[in-house]
Amino acid sequence: MPRSSTASPGSRPAAHPGSAAGCLGTILLLAVGALGNGLLLSGLTAGPAPAGQPAWLAGAGLLMLDVLLLVLALRLRRTRAQSEAAQRDLSRTRAMFDGLNGNTVIGIYMVDEAVSFTYANPQLARMLGYDRDVLADHFPLDRVFPPDTYRQIRVRAGQRISGEVSRARYEYPALRSDGAPIDVEIYASQIILDGRPTIIGMMLDISERKRAEAAVWHQAHFDALTQLPNRPSFQDRLQSGIEASRRNGQPFALVFLDLDQFKEVNDTHGHDTGDELLQQVARRLQSCLRDTDHLARLGGDEFTLILSDPADEDAVNRICQRVLQSVAQPYSLNGQAVQISVSAGVTYFPRDGTDAGSLLKHADLALYAAKGLGRNQACAFSVSMQRDVQERRELLNDLQAAVRENQFQLMYQPVVDMRTGRTLKAEALLRWRHPVRGTVGPMDFIPLAEDSGLIVPLGDWVFRTACRQLLQWRRDLHADFVVSINVSPAQFRDSGLDPATWIAELEALGLPGEALTVEITEQVLMEAGQGANASLLRFRDAGIQVALDDFGTGYSSLAYLQRFHVDFLKIDQCFVGTLNPESSDRILCQAMIAMAHQLGLKVIAEGIETDEQHRILEAMGCDYGQGYRYARPLTADELGARLRRESLTPRLPTPPWC
Ligand code: C2E
Ligand code: MG
Ligand code: MG
Repeated sequence: MPRSSTASPGSRPAAHPGSAAGCLGTILLLAVGALGNGLLLSGLTAGPAPAGQPAWLAGAGLLMLDVLLLVLALRLRRTRAQSEAAQRDLSRTRAMFDGLNGNTVIGIYMVDEAVSFTYANPQLARMLGYDRDVLADHFPLDRVFPPDTYRQIRVRAGQRISGEVSRARYEYPALRSDGAPIDVEIYASQIILDGRPTIIGMMLDISERKRAEAAVWHQAHFDALTQLPNRPSFQDRLQSGIEASRRNGQPFALVFLDLDQFKEVNDTHGHDTGDELLQQVARRLQSCLRDTDHLARLGGDEFTLILSDPADEDAVNRICQRVLQSVAQPYSLNGQAVQISVSAGVTYFPRDGTDAGSLLKHADLALYAAKGLGRNQACAFSVSMQRDVQERRELLNDLQAAVRENQFQLMYQPVVDMRTGRTLKAEALLRWRHPVRGTVGPMDFIPLAEDSGLIVPLGDWVFRTACRQLLQWRRDLHADFVVSINVSPAQFRDSGLDPATWIAELEALGLPGEALTVEITEQVLMEAGQGANASLLRFRDAGIQVALDDFGTGYSSLAYLQRFHVDFLKIDQCFVGTLNPESSDRILCQAMIAMAHQLGLKVIAEGIETDEQHRILEAMGCDYGQGYRYARPLTADELGARLRRESLTPRLPTPPWC
């Protein structure tokens, strides 16, 4: 307790030897001494001095007595001064203590050897919700702390009472009288009171701080949208899973999950709906798991599962199938029905990776393979996947170089009028003249170009090359000739093709919009967010026609044909290739042609290879034909020659045997 050198206003100044009061005290004491001296002298002198005793000795004795009395008087004066100072200190300390005790937010207590309160200040009583007198009257601490905490407290109190631990600070959960839990911080030390060791301590209610800390911790470890553990939590969990597995030899499975076409839901229905969908997906995923499994959201539409101690791979597969089925059930979002699926990549520790990095990489590869297999699949990692990825990586490098070095060529496949056999249009088909691999077909590199984003510059190149070629044909050979180009769904996505630029380029070349047809797939219509629809409308306004390619192979509903601007329907070659008078494809082709005509669309049949197919389709009223029966894809020069030949021959209907 710090001592104040300044006296409190009400206290008297300490006596000082040089002060007036000090002088007065000394004089009084000397007076008392002299009084005593006189009494003594009178006692001594009551009889004659002993015989033979010199008179100076009696005088010396008297002098010593005087000195002794003087010393005693001085000491008495000092003792009194000290006791007065101690008294002042005590009252000052008490005043301070009472002041603090009355206004403090700190609970102050004393606890005896029986671990019961023997003193409690008002704040402690308020904090714990008890009457102060009740608390101070040997109230046992086991009624204030939960059993586990009390056990620790009892041990620590014993250590402090015995002097093993002198001073300590702890944080404990406590219970108020009404049962409400609070968190307290305790500073305790030991004192000796009335000869007995006693614990004196301070208690602070830190519930508010604890709540704030818990909120910060939650934010750092959980995803705000789904309330699932986030990426850092997942990484911690994965690392501890690996360490546990190394210790106990139990393998575990790591599953990467990625929603299929989530972006389209976001684009079509808006981000709020996308968020709601993610929350519902998270709940469904959780419901498919066991208590021991760990689900996390890595971000976006990516989730991870750590399946600890799986019985075998079948058990993991069963969980994955449950997850796939659950996620694929329709959702009701803001009154709209939405459907989505999820792909899963599965890896096992330690078989597929002996550390977190390799395990994650391989789970990602397996997920990629699942997407490649058509989505809504679970795929386990295999070594061959790594080889495929390596090849893909090399192909991507080559493709990037090919875009830079312009290693592409367009071939043109004639599209003929079914009745006259005349070449009215041509479809531009892309070829990659690879310096080592030779000619690479579009099916082998378009998907890669789509995934890597290279499809956008490549698509622009196709557009420009085809338009320049078309300009020449229209000028020299066929004034109404039309070229169609394939546009992939990826080009309609973010920062893909820019219709305004294409339209401006057409105008700059002096080509009317009608000279160009854009071939899209059903996927474009199904995925069509606002962006794709706006692009299609821009094309329509510029007179550019739209053909729905590979019709019948996708899952688009007929409603799309009415909702979007489409001019041509291209029946996919899978219906045409097997066409004969008895085949069921005949009925399908017939139905498609009739329906398209009803909707005001013209029909192009793809992949016509035989005269029979041609005859059947012509009889059905199909408008245009494309296929090896008429011509394979040709170089620009070859098509030019064909157009020249045709321009020289009279325009007669195709005889039926042709
Ligand atoms: P597609 O647009 O349906 O093109 C028709 C495909 O069928 C072409 O294959 C063509 O060579 C082939 N074909 C035509 N007639 C017959 C026939 O009688 N029998 C058989 N068996 N096949 C026939 P190709 O050139 O390999 O193109 C394949 C696909 O690649 C195209 O299908 C199109 O989806 C895509 N593609 C081609 N060029 C481009 C392009 O510039 N951009 C984009 N995004 N995709 C392209
Ligand atoms: Mg096409
Ligand atoms: Mg096609």
